[in-house]
Parts: sequence; C-alpha cells; structure tokens
Amino acid sequence: MKLIDSHTHVQLKQFNPDRDEVVKRALEKEIWMVNVGTTRKDSQAAVDLCNAYPEGVFATIGQHPDEREVFDYDWYVKTGKHAKVVAIGECGLDYFRVEPHLFNEERERQIELFEQHIALAIELEKPLMVHCRDAFSDVKSVIKKQIADMPAEVPGILHFFTGTKEDAKTFLDFGFSFTFGGLITFNREFDEILRYIPKERILIETDAPFVAPEPYRGKRNEPSYVIEVARALAGVRKAPFEEVCKQTVQNAKSAFGI
Ligand SMILES: [Zn+2]
Repeated sequence: MKLIDSHTHVQLKQFNPDRDEVVKRALEKEIWMVNVGTTRKDSQAAVDLCNAYPEGVFATIGQHPDEREVFDYDWYVKTGKHAKVVAIGECGLDYFRVEPHLFNEERERQIELFEQHIALAIELEKPLMVHCRDAFSDVKSVIKKQIADMPAEVPGILHFFTGTKEDAKTFLDFGFSFTFGGLITFNREFDEILRYIPKERILIETDAPFVAPEPYRGKRNEPSYVIEVARALAGVRKAPFEEVCKQTVQNAKSAFGI
C-alpha cells in the first residue's frame, strides 16, 4: 500500500452517516488505517470495523486518560488477542483539562489506568499507543519503571507528539516511535522536532475526525487526508514525497507488526 494512517477514529459517531464510504475512499487510494479505541465500547467498534474489511483496516484497544469508566482488564486481554489489534491504547496521561483542586487524585487515577495498559501491553506483547498532554515528566517516569519488560522492537508509539527535544530524546532511548498529524501542515512549531527525530521513527496520522490538515482545515478529517501530512513531512525534511510514503509505511509496519 501507499500510506498508513497510524492513528484515526473512523468508528466514532461523526462517521455514522457514511463510514463505509470513508473507509473505501481510503482503501481505493491504497491508504491503510489503524482505528484507535478510547473506551471499551469504542474499542469494540474499532475491532468490528477491522472485521468488516479483508485488508487494510486495523484496531487498537484502550481507554483514553480523560475517560472515567472502570477499566475491564479481562475484557481487554480477551479482545486484545485478535490478530488485527495492533496496539494498546489510546492510553497515557492528560493533565490539560484537570482542575487544580482535583489535580492530585486525578493524577493518581490516570497513572493507575496507564499502568494497567502497560501491564496489558506486556501480557499481549503489543506496543502502546500513548497520548500525552501536559504530562511528559510523569509519562516518562511511568514508562521508565516498566520499559525493561515491554515489547522490545517498538515498545510504543507516541501519538501527536508535542514535547521538547529532550522529551523526544528520552522516548527515542526507550525505543518509541512518534506520529504526527494535520497540525504539521499549518503549524511550523514542529519543524525542528520533525528534523530531529530519525526518519525510521516517524509515523503519520490524521486523528480523524479531528484536526484536519490543510487544505481541509475546519472540516471533518478522514484517513485519505493523511496524504497531506505526508506531503508536509516531505517538505519539512526536504525529502522526496515517494520516499516519505515508503519510509512511513515501513515504520508503521514494523511498529504494529503488520
Ligand atoms: Zn486520537
């Protein structure tokens, strides 16, 4: 295939009216996708979606740090054995919306939830799909405690990386890969980090239906738009577009074991 959208959410309700068309539109362009679960129900929907297509559609299962349902570890173990479940997450820490007076208990809750995902990734030998917002120091220390037991080749993928060079260095040392999305098509703040991370560790995503790339800004995003992210990455790194497509596909394949 030509490209892989390594982090998207086509199972979400925004796609209820035309989900099959959206998936087919991508597959016809040889764009594969990984639908990322954010709750138990949503993870099941992502798995159902990959069962509906013979190839090119994969899932991850997990509970986003903002979601407050009880984490059903046994269900995730059982569901995570599916061959097309290629990662555990979206999991991690997000302190962006936490109210200051609730910070300590919320931090504790999120860390515990994240640790359960790490245990799951270790048990199933699948990589983590990590979400991190305003929480790099804690994400790094939680992973550091467990990294020795995590899957060796690519233990995790840091989704929509917004950290510093120093953060990137720590995750590179952990063996992590990084995904970048629509933001890099219109925000130049990421150019330096995009040139810093070795090309073998960069994946591309849409995070659809959110954050559509140029020229679709403000509209509903979808996996076939990942081509705009590839174009932007090629521009920033001054690399041929075809080479960026090939390299990011190869990186996604090795990260997800597909
Ligand atoms: Zn996402």
